[in-house]
Amino acid sequence: MENKTVAVVGGGLGALSGAIRLARLGFAVQLFEKNPTLGGKVNEVVLTDYRFDTGASLLTMPSVIDELFDFAGFKRSNYLDFVRIDPICRYFFPDGAVMDTSADKKKMKTAIAQLSANDVKAYEAFLKYAERIHDLTAEIFMSTPIHEFGKLMRHRYLRTLFRLHQIDPFRTVHQSVSRFFSDPRLVQLFDRYATYNGSDPFQAPATLNIIPYIEYGLGGYYIKGGIYRLVDALTAVAYALGVQIHTSAKVETIRHDGKRVNGVQVNGDKIDADYVLCGADAVVAYHELLEGLQHQREKLNQLEPSLSGMVFLWGVKAKHPALAHHNIIFSGDYSTEFKQIFRDRQVPDEPTIYIAITSKADAAHAPTDGENWFVLLNMPYLVPGQRWEKETIRMRRVVLDRLKQLGFDIADQIEVEHIYTPEDFSELYASNQGSIYGVSSNSKTTAFRRLPNRSRLLDGLYFAGGSVHPGGGIPLVILSGKMAATLIAENGF
Ligand SMILES: Cc1cc2nc3c(=O)[nH]c(=O)nc-3n(C[C@H](O)[C@H](O)[C@H](O)COP(=O)(O)OP(=O)(O)OC[C@H]3O[C@@H](n4cnc5c(N)ncnc54)[C@H](O)[C@@H]3O)c2cc1C
Repeated sequence: MENKTVAVVGGGLGALSGAIRLARLGFAVQLFEKNPTLGGKVNEVVLTDYRFDTGASLLTMPSVIDELFDFAGFKRSNYLDFVRIDPICRYFFPDGAVMDTSADKKKMKTAIAQLSANDVKAYEAFLKYAERIHDLTAEIFMSTPIHEFGKLMRHRYLRTLFRLHQIDPFRTVHQSVSRFFSDPRLVQLFDRYATYNGSDPFQAPATLNIIPYIEYGLGGYYIKGGIYRLVDALTAVAYALGVQIHTSAKVETIRHDGKRVNGVQVNGDKIDADYVLCGADAVVAYHELLEGLQHQREKLNQLEPSLSGMVFLWGVKAKHPALAHHNIIFSGDYSTEFKQIFRDRQVPDEPTIYIAITSKADAAHAPTDGENWFVLLNMPYLVPGQRWEKETIRMRRVVLDRLKQLGFDIADQIEVEHIYTPEDFSELYASNQGSIYGVSSNSKTTAFRRLPNRSRLLDGLYFAGGSVHPGGGIPLVILSGKMAATLIAENGF
């Protein structure tokens, strides 16, 4: 009997994770990526002597990647070198204070004590509380396709569902963090974790306080050579398992007969498949790749996209030892920043500035007298009326002025530059309204309203990636690929 076939749409990490698992299980897998390279939002660019990761810069939960390699039958350490980062991030507060964060509890407590001695105990209590949320939710929300009623109703998950109040879903991240910490700088620091899945700390449920536990309890990592090495490694594994990879191959339609999918169409060619695993943004797929299903589209329009971003890649011809590998320069008024982004859907007047410099860890990423700066600002998702060309010029000036105030006068040191706006994220990766993490978690019910890994409308159609369960970020999209592949395998070979 012939192996069943799967057509995978897109070459992002969710899709690659699913494709690798399916190939390992014995399916005949073909993957179609519209861009010339794989990886989607995990991407890299070389500008003269400077090399940049253009998307993800911080890796958390690397065990998820180890598990994928184990499943595939490969040894991760032969492909990838995970480097624990310490300090994880250097924070610059509006009042001039600077703090280094660390997953080393002693170092972290010392850093907090220097900022606010009263809050050391609060940190211990907060970390315990965040760990409890992790213990109660990690398996059920991160590893289970929760829209599959039978799987959700397992005995051990019922315990969590009955103890929902313990995962703090009724307060916002900000309300909860403010109860723990007295120093507003620490409130701002821990509020920031809501942005790790593209959400607003002033709206998102406090359940997202699981994220600081993931960073401080489990550690923050970099991949030697750049985050993009992960894509190289997964591509190598996929090829080794026989996945047929087609790049510069845009899927024009996911073919179906109203009940079941039967393949895809690429460059006018019809490719038959028993299953379709869509790793492209699911909201965009329902709008652009799947005919009919109008009702579903209207429903999807109600899901709020996540944050978008504006990125400046700067090749800086100078060394700045006062900066660490990861740096955050906080805005003076976080609530106004998020109000402007999520409620007014405007470019914030005073953005928080994130700077990642991989040449601090990999000297070869910049000339000996230079540094490769990846500068990311949180931005609203695309809505009509925004004027990105104008805003890019304004933001560039705002960022350079703020950097100068802090003693980093780099305006004349920028040798090479490349800029991405939300329009570029939409164009490059076909992400819904330029969102960079899929769907936001700004409502208490998002975890359940996010699209499932298995379509309820069309048999044979499955989804992976940031726009579907369990959400955005490297580890979660890899887990989404696992869930989709498991569901396909359960359905039959
Ligand atoms: C600036 C930025 C910073 C980030 N920082 C971090 C971070 O520090 N840590 C972290 O964990 N995460 C971070 N993320 C998020 C993380 O990168 C994403 O959540 C994750 O990579 C998304 O994976 P995905 O599986 O959803 O696929 P995507 O990356 O969305 O890829 C989808 C792929 O499908 C392709 N495609 C779409 N439509 C079609 C079609 N019709 N035919 C063929 N191909 C198609 C696209 O071209 C794309 O390659 C960041 C993202 C960005 C953009």
